[in-house]
Amino acid sequence: MNAPAHGLNRFLAQAKPSATYRVMDRVAMRRAAGAQVISLCAGEPDFDTPAHICEAGIAAIRAGHTRYTQVAGLRDLREAVAAKFKQDNGLAVDWRRNTLVCSGGKQVIFNALAATLNEGDEVIVPAPYWVSYPEIVQLCGGKAVAVPCTAQTGFKLSADALEAAITARSRCLILNSPSNPTGAVYSRAELQALAEVLLDHPQVLVIADDIYEHLVFDGIAFHTIAQVEPRLRDRVLTMNGVSKAYAMTGWRIGFCTGPAWLIEAMEKLQGQQTSGACSISQHAALAALTGPQDFVRSARAVFQRRRDVVVEMLNQAPGLQCGVPQGAFYAFASCEALIGKTTRAGTLLRSDEDLVNALLDEAGVAAVHGSAFGMGPYIRVAYALDDAALRQAGEAIAQFCRTLSN
Ligand code: GLU
Repeated sequence: MNAPAHGLNRFLAQAKPSATYRVMDRVAMRRAAGAQVISLCAGEPDFDTPAHICEAGIAAIRAGHTRYTQVAGLRDLREAVAAKFKQDNGLAVDWRRNTLVCSGGKQVIFNALAATLNEGDEVIVPAPYWVSYPEIVQLCGGKAVAVPCTAQTGFKLSADALEAAITARSRCLILNSPSNPTGAVYSRAELQALAEVLLDHPQVLVIADDIYEHLVFDGIAFHTIAQVEPRLRDRVLTMNGVSKAYAMTGWRIGFCTGPAWLIEAMEKLQGQQTSGACSISQHAALAALTGPQDFVRSARAVFQRRRDVVVEMLNQAPGLQCGVPQGAFYAFASCEALIGKTTRAGTLLRSDEDLVNALLDEAGVAAVHGSAFGMGPYIRVAYALDDAALRQAGEAIAQFCRTLSN
């Protein structure tokens, strides 16, 4: 539809809609029309939120905790957030000065960038990146600078690549480990090397998106840059949330810790925007952080097993090639060998987007194209489904690939 004469905000007009949500919407529409679709596109755990957390939400409603909370979040929750950052990440955090609760991780990023970017400021985004990073940068008037990080470097940003990407306009670096969409996990040494570069460029903030912190496999230790290099702490925002760790995507609770100057600015923005996160969800998030943690451990074990199933099945599909991700619940497979082929229904696959469209239309399997994450030709497969559904999807993908012609 055409915009009226006064038009749209120019930053919004140039931003793209969320690619992950577009695919999820397509799946929902097809299902509503009666089609059978195995969805490997949604980046959310398939488990129910643990019962004790749901009960805390229900109890909050019954107790009348249905009013505004403080903009920055309930004191109890902020104290629990501070304790989490201390215990898991070794960060000394004053709940009052250094924590903020937001409506999901996306709002943490949005608040941070809106609070700090001026028009034309550059934000370094290692690619492949989560689809929303460059668009949030764009919405905040900044310029996303994607730095390609190929399979040869494990899809990770090297110190040299970071140094080469920094200019006088660089204002921020977004780091995401474990990564969506590749599952790459930065080691302590890799973060230290990046930190050495950053120490020479004091104008660059860091947003460390640790939302998949608890989904690290094979006994590998998780590290975050503020812990690795304390000298950066006055310009690192470390963010996390309950969505992925506690299967709480719909509750919309993200949180962060950072220097007081930044938290204060983000709180001011939030106070003029959402007024703060949902009171009921905050009570549920408090139960998640302070209650038993066995769900987190068992979910990690389940996802690690599924990872092995999915990587094997992707590599068995002719033309797909997939390394072993160390975390999150995504596999990122190269589909280069399939580009230029034609499907049984006669569709020429010119790109990874053509491939995921054809996979959905002809094989009933939904994935997301790698180019949406800034690197093609790849496909991202989310393995948040049970083993039987994953195997069924694997068989359908392999069969689809086998029937492609040159
Ligand atoms: N983060 C998830 C994904 O990448 C959820 C959807 C979204 O917010 O992008 O699929």
